[in-house]
Amino acid sequence: MTLADRQEHPQLTVSQRDLFAADLAIVLASGSDRLRRAEPMSGHTTFRVGGPADFFIEPSSAAELSAILRTARQHRLPVTVLGNGSNVVVADRGIRGVVISLGQPMAAIRREGDCLVVQAGALLSSVAAFAAREGLGGLAFASGIPGTIGGAVMMNAGAYDHCMAEVARSTRYLDSEWSEQTAAGQELAFGYRTSCFKGTDRIVTETTVCLTPQDPAEILAEMAALAVRRRTSQPLELPSAGSAFKRPPGHYAGKLISDCGLKGFCIGGAAVSTKHAGFIVNLGQATASDVAAVFNHVQATVERETGILLEREVLFIGDWD
Ligand SMILES: Cc1cc2nc3c(=O)[nH]c(=O)nc-3n(C[C@H](O)[C@H](O)[C@H](O)COP(=O)(O)OP(=O)(O)OC[C@H]3O[C@@H](n4cnc5c(N)ncnc54)[C@H](O)[C@@H]3O)c2cc1C
Repeated sequence: MTLADRQEHPQLTVSQRDLFAADLAIVLASGSDRLRRAEPMSGHTTFRVGGPADFFIEPSSAAELSAILRTARQHRLPVTVLGNGSNVVVADRGIRGVVISLGQPMAAIRREGDCLVVQAGALLSSVAAFAAREGLGGLAFASGIPGTIGGAVMMNAGAYDHCMAEVARSTRYLDSEWSEQTAAGQELAFGYRTSCFKGTDRIVTETTVCLTPQDPAEILAEMAALAVRRRTSQPLELPSAGSAFKRPPGHYAGKLISDCGLKGFCIGGAAVSTKHAGFIVNLGQATASDVAAVFNHVQATVERETGILLEREVLFIGDWD
């Protein structure tokens, strides 16, 4: 298919899998029982679609993350890093190699002055709530974005005219040789839904966000108001990956899609939301192929009717054919 990001890794043999699992058991801090095989990715993405990852693991520290990366490379296994899986569509055939999910075991948050130092796996909702309790404003915009801070920095996530670029001061990451580096200020190269991490194999491990003192009650009120705005305008009751397409200059993707008469358009179990045409949703039984087919149809129709080619915001990952 043309729409998906192709993955050129063959199926693993049984002995390859066993050798990797055995070697990983040696390096993991608390044994190999956390290494899951043939893990359905539908359980780890907000779209609730996607086949099995050959291996799936949540590291508990940056050191463990390095050890997993090293072992995967020794065994020539491809690695896919995920946060909360809220901006991806995983192929029905799943993901070959190792999926490393940065989540709760790497989600510590600590205050340093008016900044928060946050491990990559912390959810934005938790970071925003922590900041509010501490009387630090500037993150309310992110409280309803269902991703991790690592994924949010990678995508320069944003909402309601604010984005991560405004608060992310510096980020620690592992480079392609697993050496720990820091990027700060301009080096983070933030742009619309992009950063210096996008399209690279750098892995964000920790980010420092710098905020402004503000009355906690005021921050909580702001967060509550934004939550109401989201609930009334977005189809939060159905699985999705948020806005399907980037905002084209001078237009709104949702309006273009709606003006083309595509609200409610569906293929299999995937549909353009009737509540907000900028969202493609899983009506319950969608496959990743249904989702991809709806993306393709919307893109082709909008281009034919308006001459504007919508660019996907959601990332297609895994073993697409
Ligand atoms: C209902 C809904 C509403 C949404 N609203 C918004 C919104 O208002 N604004 C917005 O910007 N987005 C929104 N999103 C999309 C999504 O939540 C954000 O893009 C979020 O930042 C993705 O974070 P994640 O942890 O889920 O990343 P994932 O989806 O897990 O990964 C996304 C990409 O980041 C990479 N990645 C993840 N973690 C790391 C890491 N530690 N190091 C390096 N790379 C990493 C992955 O490899 C992948 O390429 C919404 C999604 C949903 C489902």
